[in-house]
Amino acid sequence: MSKNLYALFQSRFPDDMSSDFIKSPDGNNLSYGELDRQTAQMAGALSSLGVVAGERVAVQVEKTIEAVILYLACLRIGAIYLPLNTAYTADELDYFMGNAQPHVMVCTPEKYKQLKAVTKQNSVPHLLTLSNQKTGSLIDQFEQALPHNEIKDVSGDDIAAILYTSGTTGRSKGAMLTHDNLASNATVLHKYWGWAPDDILLHALPIFHVHGLFVAIHCVLMNGSGMWFLPRFDAKEMINLIPKSTVMMGVPTFYTRLLDQPDFNDVTCQNIRLFISGSAPLLEDTFMQFSKRTGMTILERYGMTEAGMITSNPLDGDRIAGTVGYPLPGIEARLSKNTTIEDTPDPNITDDDTIDGDIGILEIKGPNVFKGYWKMPEKTAEEFTEDGYFITGDIATISADNRVAIVGRAKDLIISGGYNVYPKEIEQAIDTIDGVKESAVIGVQHPDFGEAVVAVIIGDNTRDLHEDYILDHLKVQLARFKQPKSTFFIDELPRNTMGKVQKNLLRQSYANLYS
Ligand code: ATP
Ligand code: MG
Repeated sequence: MSKNLYALFQSRFPDDMSSDFIKSPDGNNLSYGELDRQTAQMAGALSSLGVVAGERVAVQVEKTIEAVILYLACLRIGAIYLPLNTAYTADELDYFMGNAQPHVMVCTPEKYKQLKAVTKQNSVPHLLTLSNQKTGSLIDQFEQALPHNEIKDVSGDDIAAILYTSGTTGRSKGAMLTHDNLASNATVLHKYWGWAPDDILLHALPIFHVHGLFVAIHCVLMNGSGMWFLPRFDAKEMINLIPKSTVMMGVPTFYTRLLDQPDFNDVTCQNIRLFISGSAPLLEDTFMQFSKRTGMTILERYGMTEAGMITSNPLDGDRIAGTVGYPLPGIEARLSKNTTIEDTPDPNITDDDTIDGDIGILEIKGPNVFKGYWKMPEKTAEEFTEDGYFITGDIATISADNRVAIVGRAKDLIISGGYNVYPKEIEQAIDTIDGVKESAVIGVQHPDFGEAVVAVIIGDNTRDLHEDYILDHLKVQLARFKQPKSTFFIDELPRNTMGKVQKNLLRQSYANLYS
């Protein structure tokens, strides 16, 4: 069989091609037959614009059925799909256009004017539009196009998509994902999560990111079944559709927002067999509250743009809060030794004050691991070990039975007075204090300590919070060097679209605290 990912999906199409691939609450559905026909026609439209295998098609549009068709059409002709976060401004897009040099850029009609200049500046030959009403110059092109039925015979190592990382720790990097990378992860996840013929996914994630585009849509295509397709998360709409679905995938904020709805309960969830969470850490409190309210245990998994899914809690067996489960079949995971806690020079600090067990940066190897960062060979080389493991940049522990827990990002590690301080440990201690909703702990430059531990706290409005109250609690739980030197109370943590806390913004806000 061809190594083209689309050919793999095609081999999994249902016998009844009139069955729905996409279902929308407003009745705008797409059958498998139409999916195959329209992706061929969109492939024809792209070909008529001169797009050939290996060229990039950059896309910044609303979440629509046509955007999914565009993605699959790119696969068919061996072009490289390059989705972009809808939040990016024209200035940010200038960087992406310059870096990726696409042959075609597709944007919303609203952005057309701004992007005209950007695409011209970066010599992008074609700028087309696609609205969320099935209109725009891409649709005109599509309607005139002849179907291009051939599926390009690519090598498994050819690039299927370039996805830019979320930019949580710095400038986004374009991860090159091959047909084999995506096929291996799709095959593994489909099996690991026990997809059954009548499963229906509830899809409310954005589709410019690995979670919504690959994990969610690929599982459905591998299953040849249907999904409810919502343009965005809307708690009320979710509560209508959860009873009509069997699997839901979400970022942790989906779960907290569902819990905020008083009418969300065990009856709502009767039909669901699997709730999956990822993209950012799921708070233990959310996991517990969800289980209490619905009787369901959220399955947390861990992954990243560069590697798709890496670990998952089991389908059968214990799903443990605060852990991300086992490395998926075919994926090797180990800890680098260079972040292991060093012997502490202060005799008052004992090992009991530090996190239990081995801790280090998680390194992985497997068929899911990307080919490298687009046009960044040095950066790519830096992120791989000599023996070919990808350095994830996440600090983790691995238990004796191979269960992984993510402790935080290496870039967020605080070194205060020579000691490693893991923000997650402090955040967990703060979050259990009565009156605290959540917290973020960061390192801020300090003349004596190098970095000082600073806590930014969000209250749950049940009581007045102040520094002494927080510190009194922490004193009993944490060694002195881990206790915050300063504490701030704010209304909301800065988060990006995937619900990730943007600690770099917090660090910027408090950068001059001690200078
Ligand atoms: P950038 O690499 O540009 O700084 P990013 O790492 O946030 O951005 P993504 O590839 O979208 O970009 O996110 C991957 C990261 O998300 C992982 O490295 C990890 O830090 C975090 N993550 C994903 N799932 C989980 C999870 N279940 N628990 C904890 N962290 C998670
Ligand atoms: Mg990253």
